[in-house]
Amino acid sequence: MNLLPQLCATKRKEMKKITIAKGDGIGPEIMQATLNVLQAAGAAIEVDEIEVGEKVYLSGNTSGISKHAWDSIRTNRVLLKAPITTPQGSGYKSLNVTMRKTLGLFANVRPCNSLHPFVATKHPVMDMVIIRENEEDLYAGIEHQQTDDVVQCLKLISKPGCEKIVRYAFEYAKQYGRKKVTCLTKDNIMKQTDGLFHKIFNEVAAEYPEIANEHWIVDIGAAKIADTPEKFDVVVMPNLYGDILSDVAAQITGSVGLAGSANIADGCAMFEAIHGSAPDIAGKDIANPSGLLNAACLMLAHIGQGDVAEKIQNAWLKTIEDGIHTPDIYKEGISKQQVGTQAFAAAVIANLGKQPQQLKPVSYKQGMDFKMPIYKRKAATKKELNGIDLFAHWGGTNPEGLANKLKEIETSTLKLQMITNRGVKVWPEGFDETFCTDHWRCRFTDEAGGSISKDDILALLSEANRVNIDIIKTENLYSFDGVRGYSLGQGQ
Ligand code: NAD
Repeated sequence: MNLLPQLCATKRKEMKKITIAKGDGIGPEIMQATLNVLQAAGAAIEVDEIEVGEKVYLSGNTSGISKHAWDSIRTNRVLLKAPITTPQGSGYKSLNVTMRKTLGLFANVRPCNSLHPFVATKHPVMDMVIIRENEEDLYAGIEHQQTDDVVQCLKLISKPGCEKIVRYAFEYAKQYGRKKVTCLTKDNIMKQTDGLFHKIFNEVAAEYPEIANEHWIVDIGAAKIADTPEKFDVVVMPNLYGDILSDVAAQITGSVGLAGSANIADGCAMFEAIHGSAPDIAGKDIANPSGLLNAACLMLAHIGQGDVAEKIQNAWLKTIEDGIHTPDIYKEGISKQQVGTQAFAAAVIANLGKQPQQLKPVSYKQGMDFKMPIYKRKAATKKELNGIDLFAHWGGTNPEGLANKLKEIETSTLKLQMITNRGVKVWPEGFDETFCTDHWRCRFTDEAGGSISKDDILALLSEANRVNIDIIKTENLYSFDGVRGYSLGQGQ
């Protein structure tokens, strides 16, 4: 364990031990700059350094993190992490995703605001906070190759996951006096998964009548964020959309190097810059440390040192106003002096105690650590088994041929209802024009629309096996309190 010297602290504050990881690429440089500023500002923190990332991966640990590092994080419960490099190759698991899921860091909070006229941006008025669901969606990372042609990634969305993140967004808006929460999903296509997120958004929004709410389909919502970000306030999204759009939002403020983020769990939190390890500029003392510095300020607010966070961020805003800029945001005619990573940190230190003159000063009076209501599991619904989708690996091209084979395995209860290929109905009454892969979804249901038993399914599977139909996966078709819990075939 590498215990760094205690950072100096104001006497009245209780010293808080935090875990830090210097990461890879530009990580060590921006961490050094950040710690220098924190120390000069009087943050009452003691740091416990852990090693995570590339070196750990290449030492043969495919998770990128040792048991000792986990112990430090679980003891201190606050981690300030510089970006890491995940080596190429399918054997290495993303440490960022692992950490978020293992520690239950369900909310990723990314404030993105423009610094006009001091940092060049096409969007002078922009002050948006993106709140991204952090544990679910396609990032469950459950992938399988099922046939020669087709691989699958499972998109998992849960009621608790949606409710926690949406409620967090509204609580955040309430805490910070924000006026509107926008939800982005693609529920016109993914009616079950994104549909659940949207439905829960509507339910939770109704509990916060004082905060405006709106929903956009994510494609037009993304276009609007890129075009008129000033119209957005707090934006809440499932994981993948949030990952992409928070980078877009940060980049259009002027540089991806500016924004920090907080990853919040109940009783544990991780803070990091939103950018990666930038190997192209590592070791050159030209990286912008602002993203990690802003993340450290979110951390200080989280541990009850909002006054120190305020002091640092106002000094940082003043430095930006002074035109002292790292190369990523340096622009002739706007900037006054181009500086490196450590000189930028020194300029921020020199400005501690000063306020920005034009940019809006930061206030952390509200703190970051608001209490979320404990999630209460909803009452169980009446779940009924209505049928089964058999997924078959079949090399033929004419769905009629497959249908004839499948008719042979029908039982007294389960009858072939439809066949789809990549979600499009191809039998009965498919189109010759539809391109078909070797991955077929074959739906069997009770003709009378009643419920079936697991024994009915086993009998069907046994028949499929007998006639050599290669079933590579099955999905039960359930209704919950009489509401269908599965998609129909496109074109159905
Ligand atoms: P990146 O964010 O590292 O770099 C993208 C571009 O932005 C590069 O041109 C880089 O020079 C520039 N840039 C990034 N941060 C900057 C800063 N602070 N100052 C100035 N310029 C900056 O993204 P990438 O190139 O896609 O990824 C590089 C590595 O980082 C990969 O191994 C990736 O897996 C990893 N990564 C890590 C994290 C994390 O640890 N949280 C996040 C994203 C990517």
